[in-house]
Amino acid sequence: WMTALPLIVASAFFVFRALWALDEQGLQNFMTAGTIHQAAFIIMNFVVVTCSFGLLWMISARLEKELSDQARIDTLTRLYNRRALNEIAPHEMARAKRHELPLSVVVADIDHFKSVNDTYGHPVGDMVLVNFAQLLKENVRRPDIVVRYGGEEFLLLLPDTTEDQGRIVAEKLREIIEQNVLCQDHDLKATASFGVAELALKESWEALTNRADSALYAAKRKGRNRVVSSTEVQ
Ligand code: GH3
Ligand code: MG
Ligand code: MG
Repeated sequence: WMTALPLIVASAFFVFRALWALDEQGLQNFMTAGTIHQAAFIIMNFVVVTCSFGLLWMISARLEKELSDQARIDTLTRLYNRRALNEIAPHEMARAKRHELPLSVVVADIDHFKSVNDTYGHPVGDMVLVNFAQLLKENVRRPDIVVRYGGEEFLLLLPDTTEDQGRIVAEKLREIIEQNVLCQDHDLKATASFGVAELALKESWEALTNRADSALYAAKRKGRNRVVSSTEVQ
């Protein structure tokens, strides 16, 4: 607005000045052109100064946004990182409590991922992570938030979702992961284990994620490639 407003005002003024000049007699002396032409000179200076500041301000705001986006997005998978989650989670928890809506968390961990790295090397491991992340992102609803939680651990924050519904989401994702090739070059497939928990009344974020983590470890203990919900663990 700092850039646009002076330009709009100046444009209106110059239209007015042009109409005024139509009706004016020829200039006798350039140095005493009259108030309206002197005002034009002052307005042009004003536009140059405000637009320069306005442009600098816009560039700096854009750079600031880009930096903050970069700090919140994982460079490998392009998903939100933990830092972003720390900002999003309190916001979603407050929203769920305010509207008395359920909120569920799903944690996913790729099974035996270390052996992918050990057998095919780190770049292939990275590619598996990228494709895994892509499959998660593509197969959840728009309001669902997908986060790279750790190395090969992912967290889904599902607003307006109960534990049973979260289980269904996780089961669908588990099947999709199982069926898809995660690295074309080696025709590589992988499976993942999932833990699900729904936010309880007055529960903290730490307690909620701990319950989802416990469910995930139960899924690992039970033989991997499965979904376990928190209520099954307690
Ligand atoms: P489990 O089924 O019990 O989960 O076995 P796992 O081998 O998947 O579990 P573990 O936690 O022992 O191994 C995780 C591995 O993930 C170890 C680490 O080298 C790898 N890893 C973590 N981050 C990255 C990454 O950014 N790229 C690659 N290529 N590997 C990573
Ligand atoms: Mg793993
Ligand atoms: Mg792990």
